[in-house]
Amino acid sequence: MFNQHKERYTTELEEIEKAGLYKNERIITTAQGVEIKTKGGGSVLNFCANNYLGLSNNPRLIEAAKKAMDEWGFGLSSVRFICGTQGLHKQLEAKLSEFLGTEDTILFSSAFDANGAVFEPLLGSDDAIISDELNHASIIDGVRLCKAQRFRYKNNNMEDLEEQLKAASNCKTVLVVTDGVFSMDGIIAQVDKICDLADKYGAMVMVDDSHATGFLGESGKGSYEYSNAVGRVDIISTTFGKALGGASGGCISGKSEVVDMLRQRARPYLFSNSLAPAIAGATLEVLDMLQSSSELRDKVMKNTQRFRKGIKEAGFTIVDSEHPIVPIMLGHLENDARLSQQFANKLLEEGIYVIGFYFPVVPKGKSRIRVQISAAHTDEHIDFAIEKFTKAGKELGII
Ligand SMILES: *Cc1c(COP(=O)(O)O)cnc(C)c1O
Repeated sequence: MFNQHKERYTTELEEIEKAGLYKNERIITTAQGVEIKTKGGGSVLNFCANNYLGLSNNPRLIEAAKKAMDEWGFGLSSVRFICGTQGLHKQLEAKLSEFLGTEDTILFSSAFDANGAVFEPLLGSDDAIISDELNHASIIDGVRLCKAQRFRYKNNNMEDLEEQLKAASNCKTVLVVTDGVFSMDGIIAQVDKICDLADKYGAMVMVDDSHATGFLGESGKGSYEYSNAVGRVDIISTTFGKALGGASGGCISGKSEVVDMLRQRARPYLFSNSLAPAIAGATLEVLDMLQSSSELRDKVMKNTQRFRKGIKEAGFTIVDSEHPIVPIMLGHLENDARLSQQFANKLLEEGIYVIGFYFPVVPKGKSRIRVQISAAHTDEHIDFAIEKFTKAGKELGII
């Protein structure tokens, strides 16, 4: 019967293609890292991974993953509450609570799942969620699954947040939710100010620190440590799929009653498989590494400063921040969407792998190249990238 329905999909796919929105995946022929090979593109320096600490292919983590498999097996074939909880999972949950400075932690297969799970068991129709307009898709979807009333505030705008808190003041429980770092701009949320406002209006606070856990703040706790709000955030969600080795997995960490509720009622926890032992074991190892030395987070911050300084001096417009996400803005130029693609293509020819982002991923007239710095980049890598950005930028009349 598929033939009757085939056409609607081919038509839709053609429309996606015609609008220039069709996503082609570039095939990598090596392990993830800063020096990779791509099919067709040859050897390139990777400046677009979430590999902030350079741990995606770290030998110590691979060893820890293998050891965990030897000891705990390959898979659990069960959800947590039936027969899928090993000592290893409890160890990782305790370790995450210690690392993040929280009371308790619950594991999920991904941060997307964690955000899909967290709202519905905690809030009902008498309650409210106040969400930053630039929050991650998984928060938006999680909020959709929940009956709470919805309010949105302008990105990172504390006056508007206060307006929304007032508007929600007749609701029973109010939860303010924000990304710790806005991934298109590299802007770090003002978690301290959000907590101040939440205190004033009696609201709870949730931060999704997927782009911050492991490297922002003095001990790598994340955006809330960076902005001096440790102990003030009620719910933290984060991923193991970025700085913490980049495989997959995520968690919700925070108040013990919140975590308890999720163990009882969160659907992606109750009806989806346990985290694989290899990932649990390697994540435990990452957290050990990050607790025993600040070397990697110091390096990614130092690399970020070097890149930001050099790229500004070359004449590019970037969004100011200290985060290793560095957006090179093209919106002030004509045909910025096309230009962002041309720029990324030219850079790939020069051996730099970056991606252009344009509408609808970012607003119209806000096209950009999003560069992501890693602790695994050397000074030579950073300088080489600045040189190539400058060359390609001049050729395209950007600088
Ligand atoms: C990447 C990301 C996620 C999704 O993480 P996964 O573990 O890959 O599902 C969720 N929230 C934010 C803010 C992210 O940046």
